[in-house]
Amino acid sequence: MAATAKKRELDFSAFPPGAVTEYSTLLCLACIFDIFTKQLGLAPRTAYSEIKRHSPGIEELTAPAASRPYFDSEEKNPRCPYCDAAKRWHARLDTYRIEGGKSTDAARRALLKTLPKADEQFQIHEAKSDRRALLFEWLDTMGRNFDFEDDRWLVEAARAYLERIEPKTDWSEVFKDLRAVRRSQRLEEGWERDGDRLYLAPALYNDALLVQYLVSRSHKHGGRTFEGRLTLMELVRRMRYSGHLDAQGITERDQFEVFEKLVEHLVGGEGAVKLYYVVDRRDFLEKVKTVYARYAT
Ligand SMILES: [Zn+2]
Repeated sequence: MAATAKKRELDFSAFPPGAVTEYSTLLCLACIFDIFTKQLGLAPRTAYSEIKRHSPGIEELTAPAASRPYFDSEEKNPRCPYCDAAKRWHARLDTYRIEGGKSTDAARRALLKTLPKADEQFQIHEAKSDRRALLFEWLDTMGRNFDFEDDRWLVEAARAYLERIEPKTDWSEVFKDLRAVRRSQRLEEGWERDGDRLYLAPALYNDALLVQYLVSRSHKHGGRTFEGRLTLMELVRRMRYSGHLDAQGITERDQFEVFEKLVEHLVGGEGAVKLYYVVDRRDFLEKVKTVYARYAT
């Protein structure tokens, strides 16, 4: 009775925002069966057990652009871009990346305990990274998802940054019906909401500008920020005259060295980070079974 109504979604509510990144891709089983039976000459039964054991690599599962036999589609009834197979041949693979650390260790252990163990419905991979690489990945992901034609991305970028550094705050409440984000003239640190405006202390505001710059920069035109379009030189000059560089203890004169220091500050220090990838293979295992039944007859 309840077996068919089992809950599919994993619950990440115990994790701070930003600690879990979700990736989703489609795998064309028609393409895979084709490779195993036609190109490698395996009997369907052997192909089936090989495919069932298939453990997809993290790189394939999290790549920004998928390649055969993986593909991405937002459509309701997509067709495989390689072999035109219909939806019943596609398996969905969801991957969740959890950043290791004090704020997530307990929640992660609790979550992993709840996952079913049979048939490797879930596979866990561990990897090492560092804060700087994660920061730039985070910026890249934002840059791919923003609509730069619509200036609302500027506020979204500021919010994403605040969520990253202050994960415990309920930012959806703070940003509710917000009209503008401004540099505060009186706060020395932190932020405050006043009417429909959010005021950020200068240091926080400057960090938000830097995030916006990094997300939108292009070599020719600089980056876009709350303060308009800025080249690197303009951004550095603005931070110098506003006292931000002094406040951060940045004494370099060369703009590229200053930039490097500003990024370092945003990274929040050197440091290795352990990453845990949870791969949800449930849909894959079910689809492989039904596809094989179809294939073998
Ligand atoms: Zn295909």
